[in-house]
Amino acid sequence: MPLMQKGLRRLPGLVAIAQKWFAEQAIPHRILIGVVVSLTLTMSLYAVFAGNACAVKVNGEVIAIAADESTAKKALAELVDYKTGEAGSMVNYTEEISYKSIWVRNKTEGILDVEELKTQISSALTFKMQAAAILVNGEQKILLKNRQEAETLLGWLESVYHVEPADRVAFRENVEIVDILADIGGTMSFDVAKKMALLGSNNVVQYTVKDGDNLWDISRAFNIDQDQLISANPGLNPENLRAGQMLYLNQEAPLITVIATREVTVDEKIPYSVNVKYDDGLLLGEKFIISQGVPGERTVTYRITRENGLETDREVRSQVVKSDPKTEEVVKGAITMVASRGGSLRLSWPCGGGVVSSFGMRWGRMHEGIDLDADYGSSVVAVAGGTVVDAGWDGGYGMKVDISHGGGLVTRYAHLSEINAAVGDSVNRGETIGLVGSTGNSTGPHLHFETVVGGEPCDPLDFLP
Ligand SMILES: [Zn+2]
Repeated sequence: MPLMQKGLRRLPGLVAIAQKWFAEQAIPHRILIGVVVSLTLTMSLYAVFAGNACAVKVNGEVIAIAADESTAKKALAELVDYKTGEAGSMVNYTEEISYKSIWVRNKTEGILDVEELKTQISSALTFKMQAAAILVNGEQKILLKNRQEAETLLGWLESVYHVEPADRVAFRENVEIVDILADIGGTMSFDVAKKMALLGSNNVVQYTVKDGDNLWDISRAFNIDQDQLISANPGLNPENLRAGQMLYLNQEAPLITVIATREVTVDEKIPYSVNVKYDDGLLLGEKFIISQGVPGERTVTYRITRENGLETDREVRSQVVKSDPKTEEVVKGAITMVASRGGSLRLSWPCGGGVVSSFGMRWGRMHEGIDLDADYGSSVVAVAGGTVVDAGWDGGYGMKVDISHGGGLVTRYAHLSEINAAVGDSVNRGETIGLVGSTGNSTGPHLHFETVVGGEPCDPLDFLP
């Protein structure tokens, strides 16, 4: 206490002056002066060593005066309790708080009660709360009250896309939970966090399905990719939209991609190939089977990968061939048609990839086309020039394009992931009309291709080279 030391050092000189002056005073005055001096001294000592109030300091600055230190501490404790309750998580403050005993002349002025102290302390301190942040590729995206909520959210996300018990589930992104001190009120509710994780944003339009709506129309109307619609609405059955059903429409991608892989072993037929000889003596569509093809059989194990519920890959892991297919030997007429554009034409292949399922009876049902094994997203082209007569979602076909080539021949391209043609378009042979996909009733990416002559489905292999 430098001030007090300074005072004490000057004391002898002051005492001498006082003694001299004191000796010059009359006796009654001396008594009065003695009383006054001793009273003053007592009060000063009391002020220096005891004080009658308590200054509350935040980072060294007085922010309030309390009656005493315990009242100030009580106000602070109550404030922390209140903030903790309000935040739903432990709160703490970042400043340094201290107390100092002081003397005030008038105890009725300037001394704050507990409620007033709380208000004053609250405005001087910065409270932060314990919270858990979910980082996606190192960026903080979701802020929850605690680690347990964050873990529950990630668990929910893993299960939301129709995951089966045998699935192995992983996130594509690097997802981690970290404990942080956050601003009070800065965390999000669990429901908001769910939307953020699933839809990439909390600001999402909802749409109520109306009678007669289909996914294609909705997708077109709101300019949203159908895959995006399906991924944003886990459990959605595109073929079975119900009026009144709520759909999330968002153009943002989910924050986190759930990758589920499973291995599936199935018994399958191996399609037979067809060896065709052309005979100019036969007419369009006429053919003679010299020896009937027989499909082979195999047991195949696929590894299927789904990203947010959409199948993105189907890889053959192993297969056991039980019987080889037997090639069909056929003689056909050279394909000549009176097309609207005139001239004769032969169809070309709509995409790369071999025939994995042939025309005819399959699993007790008529398979009205052929399935071509092609990569997801690869181009599907018109097999001949013609006019697009249908383009859009069509039940089990998923996204489908029909092209009329005249002479009663219509070609159909189904399960597309994208359509690049519109009804009325004139297309040339080889022009891309869509991309291979797995929409509609499809177990994996492939092109289902049909040739319909006079309304009757015919074996496309009769028209292909
Ligand atoms: Zn098919």
